[in-house]
Amino acid sequence: MRVQSLDNKASCYHSNMRLNNKPQNFHPSFKSLISQKQINEIIKNTKNPQNIRKYLDSIESYNAFIRGLDRISFNQITDQLYQKYGIETDLKGNKVIAGANALVCNIFQKLGLIKPPALYMRSFPNSQQFSRTYAVTSVHKQMTDFDIAMKERYPLRSVVYNSNIDWDKLQLMAISEKEAGHSSTGHFLHVFLHEFFHNVHADNLYKRFGSEARGSDVFAYLQRKYSKQANIELVKKETGRYGSTNPAETFADEMSERIADSLNPRTLLPDKNPFAFMEFEGRIDFNQMIDDIWQGKKRKY
Ligand SMILES: [Zn+2]
Repeated sequence: MRVQSLDNKASCYHSNMRLNNKPQNFHPSFKSLISQKQINEIIKNTKNPQNIRKYLDSIESYNAFIRGLDRISFNQITDQLYQKYGIETDLKGNKVIAGANALVCNIFQKLGLIKPPALYMRSFPNSQQFSRTYAVTSVHKQMTDFDIAMKERYPLRSVVYNSNIDWDKLQLMAISEKEAGHSSTGHFLHVFLHEFFHNVHADNLYKRFGSEARGSDVFAYLQRKYSKQANIELVKKETGRYGSTNPAETFADEMSERIADSLNPRTLLPDKNPFAFMEFEGRIDFNQMIDDIWQGKKRKY
């Protein structure tokens, strides 16, 4: 495991993927293939039959992923993350997290998107604000509530995962959040795609606005709650409830959906260009909004 010394200047948090389950103790083992019985239950209980195909595709990939973890060690995965992408890791032996990050790195590599410089696993404070948060991406130059709560600062654009989440239930958590209208996909890679897109977005804003400090100010603007009810309703319909929290979350959850929908279930790589949208889908206003958020345009949301 390679841990960079922490860069004192860089850091901040933003994102909260929340979960209904009670936090559980961290287990470094995995046990969590989805059985045919569970698949039948999911199909029987879904409120959204149009999503079943996507759930089945994700479950197929997920089960192959879990089986594949048996054939590789934790250190082999983190060594690859370092050798292929230069990513420093301190993931406390959690193979599911290491493996899922490696899959998302491969996807982002294929798409030519930037990847985080470092990945961490930490016990988040048992507070209202953070106890049920899956992960936080450090996107702000200035100190945040998360840094203060953690008493640690993380390098800019790194991702910190919460060790109090039961990551062995990754696939079931993803489907239950999609079923609840909370997140934009039921894909088992959802949390990872989501965090990586905050990272890509932040990097774009740093470059566009000329510095990390200015870019993170714009990011903070995009983390303010929507004031227009019409925008909240639009995002809920197009992306999901979590995405409607603020424009930065809209961007991460919407882009995660586009990637998840483009993945070949066998290779877990995009089969088609996930960014060749959507003008054809009659979502012109929504697409314009996503593009404005991407560019950091300070329009009134
Ligand atoms: Zn987020």
